[in-house]
Amino acid sequence: SLTAGVVAVQGDVEEHAAAIERAAQAHGREVTVHEIRNAGLVPDCDLLAMPGGESTTISRLLHSEGIAAEIQAHVEAGKPLLATCAGLIVASSDPNDDRVDELSLLDVTVERNAFGRQKDSFEAPLDVAGLDEPYPAVFIRAPAIDDVSDGNAAVLASWDGRPVAVQQGPIVGTAFHPELTPDSRIHGLAFFENDDATVPALENTS
Ligand code: GLN
Repeated sequence: SLTAGVVAVQGDVEEHAAAIERAAQAHGREVTVHEIRNAGLVPDCDLLAMPGGESTTISRLLHSEGIAAEIQAHVEAGKPLLATCAGLIVASSDPNDDRVDELSLLDVTVERNAFGRQKDSFEAPLDVAGLDEPYPAVFIRAPAIDDVSDGNAAVLASWDGRPVAVQQGPIVGTAFHPELTPDSRIHGLAFFENDDATVPALENTS
């Protein structure tokens, strides 16, 4: 069985745990999900989700709890990370905001709360590279990705002409909240269909 972690210092944790379980089931995998609130658990995780919430708070706690370096090592080992909304901001190399202590895992510049007051929250049918049907993407005070110009991150989806989902090696980052819809295809892409990421192979039980 696989071990999954959901970074749980702040933000929407339970929804991610449930989405990981749905995606694993859809891919015929068994998974045990742990909530990560302190150092020492991430090294045992095969896959990791970093949820939305408030990016300033999340990044500060990740560093003070000693979890930040463990997440960086997880990615360096080629294990998959799904970073969503505030998680994407924290994972970026430039959050355009000094209050966020970024992890510099994804070579992208982001703009916090990029979709404006009137559109604080909205749902959009998103065309995502690798998915046959549009994905119902829920945006909540979402960031946009402003700059992918160094070419390390591939854009998987855009909305309003702005990138909102990217992949770089074992990392998938989304500006929206894939854990808030029953549709687990984004978790599936990030964890079980990312050829650049290392997930332990299915045991041959026959
Ligand atoms: N606006 C939040 C931030 O900038 C992110 C919103 C979210 O994760 N839903 O931290």
